Amino acid sequence: MDRRTFLTTATTTSAALALNGCNEGNHQAIDYSKHPSAKNDEAKRINVNKNKKTIIKLATSWPADFPIMGTGVEKFAQRVKEISGGGLEIKIYPKNVLVPALAVFDAASSGQIDAFHSGPYYWKGKNPAFSLFSGVPFGFTAEEINSWMLFGGGLEIWREQYAKYNLHPFLGGNTNIQMGGWFRKPIKSLEDMKGLKMRIPGLGGEVFSKMGVNPILLPAGEIYTSLERGVIDATEWVGPALDIKMGFYKVAPYYYAGWHEPGSILELTFNKYSWSKMAFEHQSMIEVASSEMNANMTSEFHYENIHALKKLKSLNVELLQFPQDVTDAGKKALKEVIEELSGKNRDFENVYASIAKHLELSRQWSDNSLKYFLNAR
Ligand code: CA
Repeated sequence: MDRRTFLTTATTTSAALALNGCNEGNHQAIDYSKHPSAKNDEAKRINVNKNKKTIIKLATSWPADFPIMGTGVEKFAQRVKEISGGGLEIKIYPKNVLVPALAVFDAASSGQIDAFHSGPYYWKGKNPAFSLFSGVPFGFTAEEINSWMLFGGGLEIWREQYAKYNLHPFLGGNTNIQMGGWFRKPIKSLEDMKGLKMRIPGLGGEVFSKMGVNPILLPAGEIYTSLERGVIDATEWVGPALDIKMGFYKVAPYYYAGWHEPGSILELTFNKYSWSKMAFEHQSMIEVASSEMNANMTSEFHYENIHALKKLKSLNVELLQFPQDVTDAGKKALKEVIEELSGKNRDFENVYASIAKHLELSRQWSDNSLKYFLNAR
């Protein structure tokens, strides 16, 4: 028995034991043949590319050494190199080195690069449905969206949609819950939101727009000065860990908790042809290392957020929550945005239907477990 056969046998045996254990309680076992990592194509197991050195060109939408997202991808590449014993090398190109930050989708689609790391909501101009793969305002937490993606059919739908662009996506991290943003003046009621100029992208921007806010898109490098000069009245960014580095607290000291990005997904996406011609073992290594990146980035955001929040508090930042009428208006606006986009775009309608189904079930579980616990704690 060679090492590979042994590992396969060992895994099958422990999986069988685990499943036997599960079946005692009359549960239905999960069919792992449908899991995103399952490979049904037996022919691919004949590893014709064994020992062949492979180099993957991966461009990101982040500057070099960008905390958590950029450094997370660097760690991913390092892990792949280690696991493969140097046989698989991922060369990272930060934004604007090989392609501009928001050109990575097209560059991978055309095969100019093999892969990219970015966020799906940047591609809503290609198809509004793509913004849904990042998440939805008032929607999934990081844990919930992972469960939809990996076990609830989300990744399958995402791959079907991206296949039309010759792309093959993986989960590549999660920002965890994002903050509602930094405001120059406090928000006392919905009335205070009307006419505000705010930097906010994606579906969140469309929701805020229906609430009377004037959403503005600005490159990252221009947000601080625009806020300082009053060109904009507010901005959202990510969460304490990344926000503190932007210095927004110096010019807009009212910091609101949020619901517009409760667990935004980051993507690791391959050109479909580059992916399909990779050795079977290299594909598996990338699956394993990207799983690690997805989990670690989520945890790192949590860790860095708690420490940055402590620092922000010591800088006298006011931590606030939106008044109830703002939140109520946000929910109403979301419903309108979803109805409008579903009416205009069949893909959006289908993807959202899958999200809505999983979210309804997830809410019943999360409300009766996590929400109860957090309140009790
Ligand atoms: Ca954001």
